[in-house]
Amino acid sequence: MINESEADWLHLDVMDGRFVPNISFGVPVIEHIRKATKKICDVHLMIEEPEKLTPAFKKAGADILIVHLETCRNLHSNIQQIRLLGMKPAVAINPHTPVELLKDILEDLYHVLIMSVNPGFGGQSFIPHTLEKVKELKKMISKTGREILIEVDGGITLENAPILVQSGADILVAGSSIFQAKDPKETIRLLKRIT
Ligand code: ZN
Repeated sequence: MINESEADWLHLDVMDGRFVPNISFGVPVIEHIRKATKKICDVHLMIEEPEKLTPAFKKAGADILIVHLETCRNLHSNIQQIRLLGMKPAVAINPHTPVELLKDILEDLYHVLIMSVNPGFGGQSFIPHTLEKVKELKKMISKTGREILIEVDGGITLENAPILVQSGADILVAGSSIFQAKDPKETIRLLKRIT
């Protein structure tokens, strides 16, 4: 169904039961997903010490690797490692983390992921303050003169997607609103038409 849909990317949430309370899946599942799709695999690591598994996620077929600012003590070296392995690097920030903290890493990134719920579980409702963060980040990005994308993850629906796009979001991650819809492909199609 996903392959036949208009979705551009497949966003995969890896959770370790340490950085976040839940455990989802890891490298072996991504290897199988890679074999089943040609879509871009956007892998969101909600794990401690992501540097230890970064080569394994490359081998599994990740195109983009997202690490959390909150879990990386040497974020710049994490980003270098991801790039050297041939993946596009991105950084995610939790709802409590200010976008200003990205200032000195921004130009090294392919995109920034703003969490619009607390990471760890699907089906949560969107935190409205996210809109302010998207707008602020957009301003920071325009000062760099570079094209750095903004991705928003959590609680996204057909109702709140338009205001997110208008605020500056480039990539919307939708889970429950697609997979619990009566017609997931149609929901993806409608999300893609939002400007
Ligand atoms: Zn995610």
